[in-house]
Amino acid sequence: MADGQGAMENFVTVVPEKEIAGLMGAADAFDAVEATFAAMAKRTAYNFPVIREAIGHADALYGFKSGFDRESLALGLKSGGYWPGNEAKGLTNHQSTVILFDADTGRVKALVGGNLLTALRTAAASAVSIKHLARKDAKVLGMIGAGHQSAFQMRAAVAQRDFEKVVGWNYHPEMLSRLEDTAKELGLPFEAVSLEEMGAQSDVIISITSSFAPSLLDAHVKPGTHIACMGTDTKGKQEVEASLLKRATVFTDEVAQSVTIGEAQHAIAEGLIAETDIIEIGAVINGAHPGRGSDEEITLFDGTGVGLQDLAVAAKVVELARDKGVAQSIPF
Ligand code: NAD
Repeated sequence: MADGQGAMENFVTVVPEKEIAGLMGAADAFDAVEATFAAMAKRTAYNFPVIREAIGHADALYGFKSGFDRESLALGLKSGGYWPGNEAKGLTNHQSTVILFDADTGRVKALVGGNLLTALRTAAASAVSIKHLARKDAKVLGMIGAGHQSAFQMRAAVAQRDFEKVVGWNYHPEMLSRLEDTAKELGLPFEAVSLEEMGAQSDVIISITSSFAPSLLDAHVKPGTHIACMGTDTKGKQEVEASLLKRATVFTDEVAQSVTIGEAQHAIAEGLIAETDIIEIGAVINGAHPGRGSDEEITLFDGTGVGLQDLAVAAKVVELARDKGVAQSIPF
């Protein structure tokens, strides 16, 4: 029987962007991303090379992130990018869509809005690193960056430890109200601080900026801190001083990305650390690496963002949409 006829007819599940907020929260995203990092370290899941191109139209950057998980059978891609003129049109500058395929037949299975999912899966990654690497007695959460992603980061992080306070710094201080409002929503006191003060107070620091020069310096950071560097996802970007990576034990989602487009690219280029010094967070999740070795050790997670994270949260949201009856099913 040919494809598209009778019992072989294929149905595509469509989960529009506007439905995602009602379907998936930080907890579901956390579970999906933690399982994905574990599968990557077991080599049962792998990411394909990333494509990202300036298309020479609308100043846009467009690309694909893709991969396959042999255990969950998540196969597909996230496609999208950055359109700087969108804001003037009342649209989000970052735009993405996830397409999932049937790993047994190659037929398209689902089309899922990827904008909110990107924020949720990125926040889940730093939360996974906090769960597995931060000191158990961490009380103060430091936030560097107050852009779109920062609120998601804070919401996911506070579920991992009994934080009593959030301190924040941003290059553009006028944006700090986002951190203050989010801390208030979470029932936590917030204090705007200098970077020196942030380092002195914080047990966990999340950095989520689009910076091309370090904000957090090695000298700012006290022993025992866990740092999640989440903003650096492109060649040239940098959030922390390279020597901090030499002082810290460095973990990442994927070593290949960490050394090329992640925060570790600078420490590697300066010869401060070697690629073999960097540990996959999945190895810690799987118990193959012990993670934090002492209360004084500085742990640093280089979260570069991989396609398998996108596929994992999209697959989960399709399941949730079907359960709640909000999935649209289209013959295709
Ligand atoms: P945004 O544009 O909403 O906010 C940008 C943030 O960077 C703001 O806090 C801004 O003040 C700060 N910033 C800008 N220029 C700076 C400078 N010179 N020095 C220090 N800080 C500066 O962006 P967003 O959506 O919140 O994303 C933040 C970053 O996270 C981006 O670089 C984005 O590419 C990256 N990101 C990473 C992943 C991942 O998986 N690792 C996923 C999504 C986004």
